[in-house]
Amino acid sequence: MILRASRLPLFMLCPGSHVDADPERDRDDEPSEPAALGIAVHHLLESYLLFDLFEAEFVEEIAEKHSTKDYTIDAGELAFLFRNGTKGWESIKPHFGDGALAVEERKTLNITKDILLTVKADVASANKAVGEYKSGRKEHVAEWQVQAGGRLCGAQWGFLVWLREQAIDTYRLLTPEEFDAKIKTQCERYHAGERTVGDHCFSLYCPKADTCPALIADFNGKTGKFLPAIAETYTLLAPEQVAAAYRMARMMEQGLKRFWPSLNLYLDRHGQLPIGNGDALVRRDTITSKIDSSLALPIIEKYVPAEQVPNCFAVVKENLKGQIGLVAEPGKKAQRVRDCMKELEAAGALVYERGRARQTIKESEVGDAE
Ligand code: SF4
Repeated sequence: MILRASRLPLFMLCPGSHVDADPERDRDDEPSEPAALGIAVHHLLESYLLFDLFEAEFVEEIAEKHSTKDYTIDAGELAFLFRNGTKGWESIKPHFGDGALAVEERKTLNITKDILLTVKADVASANKAVGEYKSGRKEHVAEWQVQAGGRLCGAQWGFLVWLREQAIDTYRLLTPEEFDAKIKTQCERYHAGERTVGDHCFSLYCPKADTCPALIADFNGKTGKFLPAIAETYTLLAPEQVAAAYRMARMMEQGLKRFWPSLNLYLDRHGQLPIGNGDALVRRDTITSKIDSSLALPIIEKYVPAEQVPNCFAVVKENLKGQIGLVAEPGKKAQRVRDCMKELEAAGALVYERGRARQTIKESEVGDAE
């Protein structure tokens, strides 16, 4: 079994996700949205740590380079995460001592003759400390990634720098013997038939999620209860029933997100999928294009009267905020964005669309209703 350090958090929640898994299903062909953003910010931080390079002027270039065909990285968000990373590094730096600082290259460690662990560290100082930058949502199991970094360089202290939440978690690291024993115990748990179905099944991209009998049984059981529940009027249901239905809906949503890449993988392997009535699903490549507004303007002016030209361009509010963030002084971004919005409103350029107020649902602490 080859275990990647970034997958250790899932392995520790459910060893069945990786023991006997098909390594093909654990490939990262196209990084997910959070992964693409994470890779981009790691790129910037690596240059900062190794060469003391402040690549703020390259933020846009790096954002573009790491954007995927489905996901455009917002340069403003990337700059925000990068700034938090540099601040985080400055506060953990004293634990790393002088010199011997490195971004450890990916290596493969033998945990047992059957278990290989591939691991790299974002920042490490041999026998002292290891640090990982995380751009995703804070989760306690992430500790295992930093424990793996410690196993790589024999460090005593581990740090997780949460770039979004601007928080730092500190860990006393396991010895190599303790670490290896934990991994072996997880494998024994799997062979003893233990699997733990939960939110993590989809959200951490379990390579077995499509075929896992534990998950399928759990899913079928809950769907059976969930479907009658949605036929009812929610106001008549008990709060715990609605809460259970919400959890189920979230799980289905995550499962569906996972379904489409799996279907693509299937069609890659088999070419097509008969779906009855003589029809089959096949893949079709479509090439989309967009217009570069700065190059297009003189050409558009030849075809469209001057007063109609502004109608050809849509200013995306989020992009505007991102651009302001790039040039704003540190700590002044929010104020500059507010000033700009006020000025746009006063000029009548901020158009409110009637009936398009948006409501979102988010998880927060009990009693925290807004
Ligand atoms: S789907 Fe969930 S329960 Fe099944 S192997 Fe994966 S993480 Fe474990």
